[in-house]
Amino acid sequence: MRLILLGPPGAGKGTQAQLLVQKHGIVQLSTGDMLRAAIAAGTPVGQKAKDIMARGDLVSDDVVVAIVADRIDQPDAQNGFVLDGFPRTVPQAEALDRLLADKGLKLDAVIQLAVDEGILLKRIENRVAELKRKGEPVRPDDNPESLKIRLEAYRRQTAPLIDYYGKRGILRTVDGMAPVQEVSAEIERVLGPVHEKGVARG
Ligand code: AMP
Repeated sequence: MRLILLGPPGAGKGTQAQLLVQKHGIVQLSTGDMLRAAIAAGTPVGQKAKDIMARGDLVSDDVVVAIVADRIDQPDAQNGFVLDGFPRTVPQAEALDRLLADKGLKLDAVIQLAVDEGILLKRIENRVAELKRKGEPVRPDDNPESLKIRLEAYRRQTAPLIDYYGKRGILRTVDGMAPVQEVSAEIERVLGPVHEKGVARG
């Protein structure tokens, strides 16, 4: 199964991606995690991305597309994957289409987590409090100023993907305001036809 999770920062993409991994034996491909790993390792990509990410802006399309292209070729991704945080722009979605088409692969579904923007800051604050409680490092972009820029980037550059995938008939919208387990159950419900058919849709 090959899925995309779509939604603004704080919508619950990471949490739901992990649950999909447990349920379906697929891998989570989070470009944010990959970029943070590149920063931690001090690679050239990490050095390029560091300040952009801390501000809340988007890293360039060619950088993230190259990372994803490498990652989906790895053996553990052959059984399927859930993309979390990618694509974030129409050119990224087009590049993904080309990458998959070259391999004869298709997306099964794009799951949009719909949330009221008003709760996002609260969710990010909760994430920060939780990390601090566990003594884990807090993301440099989990602050009100960066969140504002991240939300603007979402509205301007990522939200058009709702239409992009909607037109292809593979968009499934789920209420992301519900408790985690309810959102997860709803995702499984909308994926039902994907499972039953066992083939790509759209
Ligand atoms: P995330 O962990 O998905 O919230 O991503 C954190 C940050 O990494 C974003 O605010 C961007 O700066 C960068 N990033 C992650 N994925 C992408 C992407 N697909 N395109 C551009 N920038 C990205």
